[in-house]
Amino acid sequence: MVITFDDLPAVAQVNDGVLATHERITTRLIATITENRIPVIGFVNEAKLVTDGAPDPQRIAFLRQWTDAGLELGNHGYAHLDMHTTSLDAYLADITRGDSVTRALTRDSGQRPRYFRHPFLHTGRSLDDRRRVEALLTERGYRVAPVTIDDQDWLFAAAYDYAPDSATRVRLADEYVRYMEAITAYYEQQSTALFGREIPQVLLVHANNLNADHFGRVAEMLRRRGYRFVPMAQALDDPVYASADTFTGAGGISWIHRWAITQGERGDFFAGEPPIAPWVMTLSRQQP
Ligand SMILES: [Zn+2]
Repeated sequence: MVITFDDLPAVAQVNDGVLATHERITTRLIATITENRIPVIGFVNEAKLVTDGAPDPQRIAFLRQWTDAGLELGNHGYAHLDMHTTSLDAYLADITRGDSVTRALTRDSGQRPRYFRHPFLHTGRSLDDRRRVEALLTERGYRVAPVTIDDQDWLFAAAYDYAPDSATRVRLADEYVRYMEAITAYYEQQSTALFGREIPQVLLVHANNLNADHFGRVAEMLRRRGYRFVPMAQALDDPVYASADTFTGAGGISWIHRWAITQGERGDFFAGEPPIAPWVMTLSRQQP
């Protein structure tokens, strides 16, 4: 399994963008990732590195913590634009603008950003739009970073940020780990249903307080299910990642489901996705 973290340097519902929040999330997350020896990729929104219109060295230092830890960085667009509500020219420009700091940081270690993750996993409403984005990505040395385990950790993370007390946070963390196991089991089944085997999975989670505090438990759960953590390049070597994908739907869905739709699967094939507990949904919308 590949573990990917989106929205670097960090995303939060409370005190988002505050230096101390980003510092806390970065430091704790990298400690967990290092402790568990996971070769993660972090996908960066460079718009978050700016304070008062200028690149902020303190914020850039958060990204350097990732590269110093030997972790790879990818491009998640400069400003996290939604391809489905943005003009194509603006979207393409945002990709190009999205990696100048990351390129400079990775150059020191003889590397360059190699993967692009579409914000919201929105990849285009027409094959022509998709091709134009993919052509630019290829030209700039990128591959699209797919996601096969598409979970809603961001919703748990919002509830965690809004939680009124530590007892609620403990209960949320327990529920989060349970949910992550259920969603992993679901996409294992979907993989077997479509390909007759379990493919190397790609998990998407976010650089938030919930994962900063509890991702170690998710990693432990995944290891218990038999997973090893591998780099993106190794997973993408599996021929399954060359499967035909003509998906142009509105949703930001798992690549397993894109391949399934392309192969003509409909309806029942997609049933059984684990729900999120109603109390978590309610709390995730609750601004304190
Ligand atoms: Zn994102």
